[in-house]
Amino acid sequence: MERLVDSHCHLEDPAFKADRDEVIARAKRALDSIIISLVDPADFEVGFELVSKYRGFVFATAGLHPGLIEKLTDKKIEETLEKIEENKDLIVGIGETGLDYNWVKKESERERQKNLFIKSIQLAKNLDLPLVVHIRAGEDKKENDPYLEAIEILEKESAKRVLLHMFGAKRLLQRVLDNGWYISTNAIVLTGKEHNRIARAVPLERLMLETDSPYLVPEPEKQKGIKRNEPLFVKYVAERVAKIKEINLDKVVEQTSKNSKLFFKI
Ligand SMILES: [Zn+2]
Repeated sequence: MERLVDSHCHLEDPAFKADRDEVIARAKRALDSIIISLVDPADFEVGFELVSKYRGFVFATAGLHPGLIEKLTDKKIEETLEKIEENKDLIVGIGETGLDYNWVKKESERERQKNLFIKSIQLAKNLDLPLVVHIRAGEDKKENDPYLEAIEILEKESAKRVLLHMFGAKRLLQRVLDNGWYISTNAIVLTGKEHNRIARAVPLERLMLETDSPYLVPEPEKQKGIKRNEPLFVKYVAERVAKIKEINLDKVVEQTSKNSKLFFKI
C-alpha cells in the first residue's frame, strides 16, 4: 500500500537542530518521502546535506521566501539564484517563492517580491523544475489581493508545473484548477473554515498533503503539549481530508502520494 508524502516542510529549520536524525527516522518508518522547502540561504547547506544523506527519502526544493525580502539585497538575491542553479541536481523544485503581504507592508518591497517571484518562475522554467508558491494576505481587506496578483503573474509567465502551498482563496480555486495547477493543505484544515471548503472542492487528483513543520502543530498533538510539528504528523491531515471528502483514508493516501511523486518526479 502507498505511504504518505509530506510535500512541504522545513527540516532544515534550526528548530530541528538537536534531533533532526531522530525526526527523520520516525518519519521513515511511516512515510514514503519528504520534500523540504529551503527558503533561507542560511539553511541551504543543511538542506543539501539532508538530501545527500537520506537519498531517495528526503528531497528538497530551494528558493527565497517572499517574507524575507526586506532582509535581502539585490546582490544577495542574484547570488542565491545562482547558487540554486549550481545545485540543480540536488533539488526537485524551485520555492517557496511568491507574495507575502502579511509580513511585508511597504509597496516598494512588495514590488521587489514580485520581481523576485518572476525571476524564480523563469529560473524554474530554465531548469525544467516545478514551482512551490507561497501566498499570504495581510489583515487589511481593502488592499491588493496577493492571491489574484500571484495567479496573474504565474499566468503571464505561463508557469505550468505549479503547487500553491497552503492555498487559502476558495474564490480563485477554479482558476487554479483551470490552469492545471495543484494545491496542498496542512493542519490548518483541522480548524480553518476556508481551508475546509477548499479541501472539499478540490479534486483529489490535484491535492497534496504537507505539514509545513516545524510550524502548525496539529490540534491532537498540541493537546498533548507538543510544540513543534514534524513530518510524521501529516497523517492528521490525511485523516481530516478523508473525513471532509467522505472517502476512504487509503484512497486519500494513495492519490495524494501519487500526485506528489508525479509532480516532483521523484
Ligand atoms: Zn513553508
